[in-house]
Parts: sequence; structure tokens; C-alpha cells
Amino acid sequence: MVGHTELPSQNGGSTPQDRRFGTLAVHAGSPHDPTTGAVIAPISLSTTFAQTSVGNPVGLYEYTRSSNPNRDNFEQAIAALEHAKYALAFSSGSATTAVVLQSLAAGSHVVSVSDVYGGTHRYFTKVASAHGVHVTFSPCIEVDVEQLIRPNETKLVWIETPSNPTLGLVDIEKVAAVAHRHGILVVVDNTFMSPYVQNPLDHGADIVVHSVTKYINGHSDVLMGVAAFNSDSLKERLTFLQNAIGAVPSPFDCWLAHRGLKTLHLRAREATTNATAVAKALEASPHVISVNYPGIDSHPHRAIALKQHRQGMGGGMLSFRIRGGQNGAHLFCKYTKVFTLAESLGGVESLCEVPSSMTHAGIPKDQREAAGVFDDLVRMSCGVEDAEDLTADVLQALDMAVAASKQAENGTA
Ligand SMILES: *Cc1c(COP(=O)(O)O)cnc(C)c1O
Repeated sequence: MVGHTELPSQNGGSTPQDRRFGTLAVHAGSPHDPTTGAVIAPISLSTTFAQTSVGNPVGLYEYTRSSNPNRDNFEQAIAALEHAKYALAFSSGSATTAVVLQSLAAGSHVVSVSDVYGGTHRYFTKVASAHGVHVTFSPCIEVDVEQLIRPNETKLVWIETPSNPTLGLVDIEKVAAVAHRHGILVVVDNTFMSPYVQNPLDHGADIVVHSVTKYINGHSDVLMGVAAFNSDSLKERLTFLQNAIGAVPSPFDCWLAHRGLKTLHLRAREATTNATAVAKALEASPHVISVNYPGIDSHPHRAIALKQHRQGMGGGMLSFRIRGGQNGAHLFCKYTKVFTLAESLGGVESLCEVPSSMTHAGIPKDQREAAGVFDDLVRMSCGVEDAEDLTADVLQALDMAVAASKQAENGTA
């Protein structure tokens, strides 16, 4: 990308490309201000940039929708962390999805995993179809993808791994091998793992997308999205659409998300430690039917996690089925004191929710249950509090919820 100075302090002997995740997170896209020496970039709120003569801007910038210093810095940092040549930021994860789908010609066909984020499902079925782009969903894409490809029509395969809220994993390499044989691009929504735990481009994906709102920003105070990729032709097409559609983030949001990104490695490691402790405590509890967490050996796709995730890490998300049905799940979320009952994920604070009643309420019950989203399923996003406090909170809420739901059952019997 144009206009960026090299990473500061080159005296370590390693080239910037060789640097490890934490070093890149802190330094990539973070040049010192060449005029003031400011270590942290100022926020460039100006929407327009002066020109000395017609067509000759003073610097690199003309108008903030087309490009902006804070957005450039953030995009450069994401490209480094996702092992991509390019990254483009958007006003939300949903806008990122929309722009990728808008890049397809009318009449294009997409094969997608069925367990996509609810908003992605809504865009695929209610918006893309209005533009003549049709999506086929597959519950087991590794097995089905070859059969679902329509010659000359299928242009994209869409993967989300882990899935939400059951944390099923997809083998990206396996699906990409089939897609590439047919000249089809593979997109991976990497929101749940973040670039620290998983780098889909290294496993054959062509585009990786994120809701920056979640782990990348990490502090539940910015709505934003990003796409990263290597192809020059994708760069040309998606940059054109980024500017033409104009679903771009503000300089302030880019600056905040970039600040959040600098500690992603610390937060993702801590969230994994905490989720692992919580998952183990849940598994040992008599009040729990089953636990979905890709970081522990009971997970049916553990082998994919070991191959695809950094050190087999499971990330900060998990879900479990509580005894006591839907009421048990609702009560559990009411009785937690450290976990806040709220939608969303990936922030420093721990959250819990009941997908069947909240994030996934729009899906018909039979379809939901076929995907493992039962009424008694609780989804948790583990933050960076202390593991002992989180497990203690979960155990006390389990006791309270199961006792209260038993009482309620007896009362109505
Ligand atoms: C939240 C989310 C999105 C949508 O992102 P927004 O920033 O809310 O528009 C897309 N995919 C996944 C997996 C998400 O969790």
C-alpha cells in the first residue's frame, strides 16, 4: 500500500515480514509522525485535503471516502496480521459481506456453509437474491461442495469457522482444494478466531473477512469490518466498490480499532485460557448436558483445530447445553454476575446469551435444532477477567439456575 514508512527500529536484524504477531500488532501501520515525532498517529478528521494545483494534492489524500490516513494505517496492520498483501476496511462486518457479494455479477451462484452469522444469512437470502446472486447452503460443506458447484455459475464459496453458536469447524484447505479446481474463490469469515488464532489465507482461502466489532477492536465500542486478500485484481475491484458504495468507517473508529488491535495477541491468549478453564468446569458439572469448545479434546473437530489454529487454541467462544431446558438457560444468564447477559462477543468483558431466544430466534425451531441450537443452549464469550472468577461465576449460576428451574417444574407439576 502506498505512502507508509517502514516499521520503526530496523536494528533487530529481522525484516519486518519476519516479525512475529505481537511485534506486528504493535508496529505494523504505525509509523511515527514524520513532522512532530508523535508515536501515536493523530486522528485525521478532515474530510478533504488541499491541492497545490488542480489534480496535485499536497500529500497522498484527496477525499476521506476514497482514503484516509487512519484507515490506511489500520488496513496495513490487518494485512500484516492476516498474511495478506492488501486489506480494506468497511463500516461494519455486514458492509464487508455486502461489498464482497456486490463484486459478483448478476447470475452468480455462491455455495455457503449453513451455519453462517445471522446477518450474513439475511443478506444472502433477502438482499443478494434481489441482485440476481443466489446462495446454496450446505450443512457439511467438506463433503458437499463438489456436488453443489454449478459449472460457470458458482463464483464463491463462503465459509465461517468456527460456526456460531455450536463452534463446529470447517477444514479450509479441503474445501479450498475443491473450489480452486473449479476456479472458484473461497471467503472465510474469521471473526470468531481473530487473526491471532487463525490465518485462513495460509490454508488456501482467497479472502478473509472480519467483523472488527468483535475481537479485533476488542472493547465493544466500535462497529467496523475488514477484508484481506492477496490478489491484485481483487484489490482493484474491491477498492472501487469501497469508494463507490461508500460504506467506510470513520477515521475515529479506524484509530480506535487500531488501538484495540495492538493488544489482540494478549487478549486472544487470555480469552483462550479463560474459555478453556470455563469449558473444563462446565464439562465436569452434573448440571451440563454437553459443551462445545474447539480447544478441548472432547470437540468432534479437535483435529481441525490442531491443524488450523495457532497451537490448537480454542479462542474465547464456547457454548453448552444446561439441564432444565430453556428456563434453565434463561435463569443461568440471569444469575451470572461477572458474565453480562448481552449479544455480541470478543470484548474484554465476558458475555453470555441464549441463542434460541436471542441471536438465533429468527430461525425456525426444527432448522435450529438440526444445527444443534437447542432451547437449552447457552453461548458464552470469555473476556480477559481472571479465570478463577469466571469459573466460580459459572458454577454458582449453574447451581442457582438448575435449582430454580427444578423448583419451577415441581411448582407447575
Ligand atoms: C458480528 C458478526 C458479523 C457482522 O458484523 P457487524 O460488525 O455486526 O456488522 C459477521 N460475522 C460474524 C461471525 C459476526 O460475529
